[in-house]
Amino acid sequence: MSRTNAPAGPEDAGEPIAAFSRRSRAAQAMGRIDPVTRGVVPPLHVATTFIRDPDNAYSSGFSYARPDNATVREAEAVLAMLEEAGAGALLFGSGMAAATAVFGALEPGDHVVAPNVMYWALKRWLREEGPRRGLAVDFTDAEDPGRLRAAVQPGRTKLVWIETPGNPLWTVTDIAGAAEIAHAAGARLAVDSTAASPVHTRPLALGADIVMHSGTKILNGHSDVVAGVLAAREADAFWARVGAIRASGGAILGPFEAYLLMRSLRTLHLRAERQAAGALALATRLGAHPHVARVLYPGLPDDPGHAVAARQMEGGFGYMLSIRVRGGEGAAIATAVRVALWKRATSLGGVESLIEHRASVEGPGTPCPPDLLRLSTGIEDPDDLFADLDAALRAAHG
Ligand code: PLP
Repeated sequence: MSRTNAPAGPEDAGEPIAAFSRRSRAAQAMGRIDPVTRGVVPPLHVATTFIRDPDNAYSSGFSYARPDNATVREAEAVLAMLEEAGAGALLFGSGMAAATAVFGALEPGDHVVAPNVMYWALKRWLREEGPRRGLAVDFTDAEDPGRLRAAVQPGRTKLVWIETPGNPLWTVTDIAGAAEIAHAAGARLAVDSTAASPVHTRPLALGADIVMHSGTKILNGHSDVVAGVLAAREADAFWARVGAIRASGGAILGPFEAYLLMRSLRTLHLRAERQAAGALALATRLGAHPHVARVLYPGLPDDPGHAVAARQMEGGFGYMLSIRVRGGEGAAIATAVRVALWKRATSLGGVESLIEHRASVEGPGTPCPPDLLRLSTGIEDPDDLFADLDAALRAAHG
């Protein structure tokens, strides 16, 4: 390999394209040029340990890979830019590791308010593990501002957790309104924005303190990385504690995964916009389908969350929708069994479209009705996706 010793150009200093839009900056992963090779793609840093300087210092800032990694930092810089996060972003080994680090930073006795409609495994964690850690957790219909206000206890509630749109009913919660309610009570607001993506919603700009994503979903988008993201508005003591929990517990994302995630973030806007357009087209057509009782998608004008979604989401309403199939649970499962193009699998946000009978996954106590199929729209031809589902619905109703 020939190596140039040319002095670093102006593009090597700081972020050379900071003046441009989030879309442009993400497409170039912040526009950094590798100073050694002049490559437009940064190298993958895999070292777990680093040489001390002769004066015993670590002048590079890196000493060991459990608390920190240069590739992870590069991906975090892109995510912090996308979320407009004053305090930066932190990457974790999964969405659950990221979310539970936030709850782990609370003190025993703290009160938490969380939504009835939210990612089921985190809800189960809050129910089962929260009390063991001394947390008092109440669940409410967070999309109803009156109920959210009533659930918050001024002085005692330290965290309000919302998820919007909320998996798997895609309920919409007013982030600015929830921030006002949380802050008036002396609590922080954290938002699981996985189903919106930073392309369609900017929770920190709307007043949230922390935004969380399962990076496993549309951020990575290729169903080959498990990751979690937190980003914060302010670098306060709570955020420092979240970082300390990641560092001491070794919950950081691995460098290979961070590298793949950064590669995916370069196409995030293309994928998110295409997937949201596909979801809207499907929701509209399925709304008129004889075997579909109801479509749940905030992009539909008659959806109960549409007005708030239209206010707080930009450029689309996300890639997730659900349908309630006429004929009940049996007809819903029979439909999922009959698709060919849709993939019958859990998870969401990949370029391949996924279909799932969600009540089978969530079990007893779920707010998910038994006739519901959850649809994650990928990048396939929306006409093909509709035709495949239409044929499956018709065959199931045979
Ligand atoms: N939040 C939402 C909305 C999710 O859908 C998921 C996973 O499905 C998670 C959080 C958890 O993320 P992970 O599977 O990366 O731990």
